[in-house]
Amino acid sequence: MNLLVVENLRKDFGGVRAVDDVSLRIGEGEFVALIGPNGAGKSTLFNVIDGQLAADAGRVRYCDRALERMSTAVRTRLGIGRTFQVAQAFASMTALQNAQVALAAGREALSVGAPLWRRHEEAARALLAQVGLAERAGSAASTLAYGDLKRLELALALAAGPRLLLMDEPTAGMAPGERTALMHLVEELAVARGMAVLFTEHSMDVVFGFARRVLVLSAGRLVADGTPEAVRADPEVRRVYLGDAA
Ligand code: ADP
Ligand code: MG
Repeated sequence: MNLLVVENLRKDFGGVRAVDDVSLRIGEGEFVALIGPNGAGKSTLFNVIDGQLAADAGRVRYCDRALERMSTAVRTRLGIGRTFQVAQAFASMTALQNAQVALAAGREALSVGAPLWRRHEEAARALLAQVGLAERAGSAASTLAYGDLKRLELALALAAGPRLLLMDEPTAGMAPGERTALMHLVEELAVARGMAVLFTEHSMDVVFGFARRVLVLSAGRLVADGTPEAVRADPEVRRVYLGDAA
């Protein structure tokens, strides 16, 4: 079944057509890379899918529901998760508190006074253990090594139990060994949870090492959609992006 169906999507910024007539589908449990040069429209496409930006034309459907009128918070609750190019945790709170707040956010209305998020300690510890951060539970997010911060961010996105996780450059700024370790973890979690993943990535080692399918954006347009082998051999993709790099 298709989890996500994007049809003829368009997003303009003034004179810049950042997303230009993009159509794509993501099925349950798929592991898909979205690649393309800087400025190709990858982050903008994610922002339209998760509701941070309104599209100028086209449609986004998730589990056969139209998303246009739904806020980002509602889309998160429906099962669309997101991690960002720049990690977004509460810096002064511990890893455990961050996970507790993320768990509470999906389950409770905002309340004045009582810190209800404190209830979720056990689930929060389990979540941190899943991303390899059990030992860091008591550390302030601001003191975490960069790779650990990215793992924490992954835990926060998982707190809502997504069926589709959008990851914008999850391994940016990481050493090659760390990248592979993080992507192995994401792959494991995706299989265990039956979760689909759509990720943007510049490292071709990561793209061709992990993705089962590759989408290529160039100047807002989807110019290829296929297996890693087919995309790697595509002359148009080599022209606009890969060059002789792959
Ligand atoms: P990518 O993530 O592939 O590097 P982006 O989606 O960030 O690409 O950007 C696509 C295009 O849209 C670029 O030309 C960028 O300058 C432009 N753009 C992105 N966000 C904004 C914005 N908030 N306001 C104006 N232009 C933007
Ligand atoms: Mg981007």
